[in-house]
Amino acid sequence: MSEKHLENLQKGLSPVERLNLITEHAMCIGCGICRSVAKRGRIAFVPVQNGTLRPIADQSLTHGEMDRIVDICPGTRVDGLPEHEIRPDSHVDSVWGVWREIYACWSAEPAVRHQAATGGVLTGLGLYLVEGGEVDFLLHARAPDEYPTFGEQHVSRHREQVLRGSGSRYGPTATVIDIAGILDSAERAGETFAFIGTPCDVSALRNYARHDSRLDARCRYMLAMVCGGFMEPDASRRVLRRFGLEFDDVESLRYRGYGCPGPTTVRIRSGQTVRMNYLDFWGDDESTWGLPPRCKICPDGIGDAADIVAADTWDGGSPTRQGQEDDPGTNAILVRTPRGESLMNRAIDAGYLVRGPDMTCGDMNRVQPHQQARKRAAWARHEALGESGQVFPVARGLRLRRLHGDNTEAFNRREREGTAERIRMGKFSEETPVASVREDG
Ligand SMILES: Cc1cc2nc3c(=O)[nH]c(=O)nc-3n(C[C@H](O)[C@H](O)[C@H](O)COP(=O)(O)OP(=O)(O)OC[C@H]3O[C@@H](n4cnc5c(N)ncnc54)[C@H](O)[C@@H]3O)c2cc1C
Repeated sequence: MSEKHLENLQKGLSPVERLNLITEHAMCIGCGICRSVAKRGRIAFVPVQNGTLRPIADQSLTHGEMDRIVDICPGTRVDGLPEHEIRPDSHVDSVWGVWREIYACWSAEPAVRHQAATGGVLTGLGLYLVEGGEVDFLLHARAPDEYPTFGEQHVSRHREQVLRGSGSRYGPTATVIDIAGILDSAERAGETFAFIGTPCDVSALRNYARHDSRLDARCRYMLAMVCGGFMEPDASRRVLRRFGLEFDDVESLRYRGYGCPGPTTVRIRSGQTVRMNYLDFWGDDESTWGLPPRCKICPDGIGDAADIVAADTWDGGSPTRQGQEDDPGTNAILVRTPRGESLMNRAIDAGYLVRGPDMTCGDMNRVQPHQQARKRAAWARHEALGESGQVFPVARGLRLRRLHGDNTEAFNRREREGTAERIRMGKFSEETPVASVREDG
């Protein structure tokens, strides 16, 4: 499966139609990178019919811009760690990718550890980086005021700002939107930054770096969380209704944090606060998570291309109710690059993080069974998409074909047929995007 597949699908289409096709085939994840690839003002990134953010281009979008978008969008291209970041003495696991060290870790500050999504490693790294003067700012995400179930891009230069971003945002979050503008101002001011985001965001940035050398010069570290996917507005709406809450009444939503993962906490406009157990919010298994289709066929939920990746450490991939009481929050950390290794060591030596016991790829399979299964299934799922004439991300350096070859025939057949069935049910299609509420382009 190759770029030829997408080229054939897009043959004869105008640049705007080529962009829309990515959305129509449900491969837009809403990261916002395309807005920076096209000339300023040509792509607006706005709420559309289904309540999420999608790109809408004007007719001046060119085929040249669209070719670059196809090469950068994580809906059409996802690569592993760039060759120049892989050292001969790094390990490579067929599921977990390139790694130098894997260990348990948490923030050395009990308050940060408690407030953060898991053990506060990403927040701890962010604090170390800005307070230690290693970078000028941190680019990450936080809860927005206007769209309470979403996340929004956030530039943090101080402790309070970094802390405001701690926790997981399980709604649409365009963390890499306007990366061109961020690079313009970093260049002007001679500043450097570190990035925290999802594996898709890191893919988008790594892809973008091949077209704009300023990215690698200005962005010193790319840090990611392991990501099983997020909830689109319709899915959040359904879950909130289960708890007797109306989506439009929500004033703020904290998905987790304040404990192992502590409760999902919703503040309603009337002033009332509703807390629900994290386990009840998400339901029992992946089929109840209401993930976007792009997440279901994700070739990289494990941050293959990041310097450091942070994950949860719950046996079987889900916290227990007892663990929610007892566990103060513990991350598993995969360190992929020498640059990431040295950063972790400095943050530990400076007293920002605590290093726990070493872990193995076997441990990662045990605490992230859904990630292992998804990585193993990706090739078969992409085959089904390809055979049905659907857009899917071309994956390089992610070991998908090798894993597919190691799977049993029955597993691969089940995954291929399951995806084909979902395509027939229309799950991999979205309406041509039309702006619905506000414009921020
Ligand atoms: C959508 C999503 C799916 C996830 N799925 C899994 C999973 O399958 N398995 C697993 O082990 N862990 C998953 N996590 C990660 C987990 O919830 C923690 O984020 C991770 O363990 C890091 O914990 P921490 O305590 O170090 O994070 P914190 O110290 O709380 O820091 C989190 C950092 O991530 C940034 N951030 C939060 N949400 C987003 C977002 N949506 N986009 C970009 N940046 C964001 C914040 O700005 C903050 O800087 C997921 C997280 C998200 C956001």
